[in-house]
Amino acid sequence: MQLKTLTLRLTGDCNFRCRYCYSTKSSCSLSYTSARKAIDIFYPCFTHNYHLIFYGGEPLLEFPLLKKIVFLAGEKDRSNGKKALFSITTNGSLLNDDILNFIQHHSFHVELSFDGLAQDIQRKKSSFKAMVTLLDKLIQSSRIDLEVNSVFTPETVGLLADSVAFMAGMQVPRIRLSLSSTTLWDDRSQEELKKELERLEDILTKHYKETGTIPVLNYIKKSSIGLFTCMAGQERMAVDCDGNIYGCDLFREYTKRVLDQAEIEKYCLGNLESLAENHHSVFNRTALHYSRFSQDKLRSGEEKCFLCPELKYCGVCPVNSFLSGGTLFDIPPFLCSLNLIRIQSKKRFWARIESLPA
Ligand code: SF4
Ligand code: SF4
Repeated sequence: MQLKTLTLRLTGDCNFRCRYCYSTKSSCSLSYTSARKAIDIFYPCFTHNYHLIFYGGEPLLEFPLLKKIVFLAGEKDRSNGKKALFSITTNGSLLNDDILNFIQHHSFHVELSFDGLAQDIQRKKSSFKAMVTLLDKLIQSSRIDLEVNSVFTPETVGLLADSVAFMAGMQVPRIRLSLSSTTLWDDRSQEELKKELERLEDILTKHYKETGTIPVLNYIKKSSIGLFTCMAGQERMAVDCDGNIYGCDLFREYTKRVLDQAEIEKYCLGNLESLAENHHSVFNRTALHYSRFSQDKLRSGEEKCFLCPELKYCGVCPVNSFLSGGTLFDIPPFLCSLNLIRIQSKKRFWARIESLPA
């Protein structure tokens, strides 16, 4: 196994209660002993440059632990010639100057959850102003690789285009737009999404003409278009704060919701203790199940994705499909419609960009 990414859920707790958050909260924290064991077990499988992702809940609630893990990975890397690339997914509320200095020093990739003009509505009330101040600092830091993840729901979709304009105006280098999939998008909200994306295409075209850049990752053209495949349990693994191991943190959410023990065992690799003893047989067992998730194996209603004309442009996370009210293999029709709306918008945008005079 060639492992590119290991996610460590430092805590199941969070100081925010975002309306759309699907993460199962708990009061558990990862122990340093477990973190060390996880890194020891997976280290031989890590690629030369591997990603260590600090996740939660809110991982900065466990900053002293995070620091110890960074030092531990650094030590191991020095004697093994590998290099950890550190990432954190954070709501930013605890990111003070000391933490900023530390993550700058270690050249972190920061994925900041910030919902633009919808921040105070669906994340934490009155957090918008502090987030803007923080964003300014992160943008100024040449050593931090910043990405903002903004989530919109049927309730806040009308703020999507203006939120991107606001963030692009602040020089946020990379914005990822996510649509909450745990809420049903009815016909009216889908229409509103279409209109917002048309406005967004105008904003992005203007931005491109002025700067030559496209700050929204969803609109970047891929250099090669291949079939979307979930890499859980193959190139990536995740350790929960209780020491249980999954192919991706999202499969933890799946196993928390299914009651069938046989189904849980397909995707949970067991605990760090048991994995240390039997890792070969466990990897082989779960790899078989995890390797089934490519877009052509999924379907939406009666539509089989492999027959869909948009197959190569579409990518549905199987657990997202499940959380949206489907199954790992059956995508709810509203989620399919959201994808089609997004795919059409990106195509329109690129048709405009490619028709611009050179
Ligand atoms: S657009 Fe719908 S049917 Fe087509 S590949 Fe995506 S989810 Fe499947
Ligand atoms: S597609 Fe979903 S489950 Fe698979 S690796 Fe990506 S986020 Fe995880």
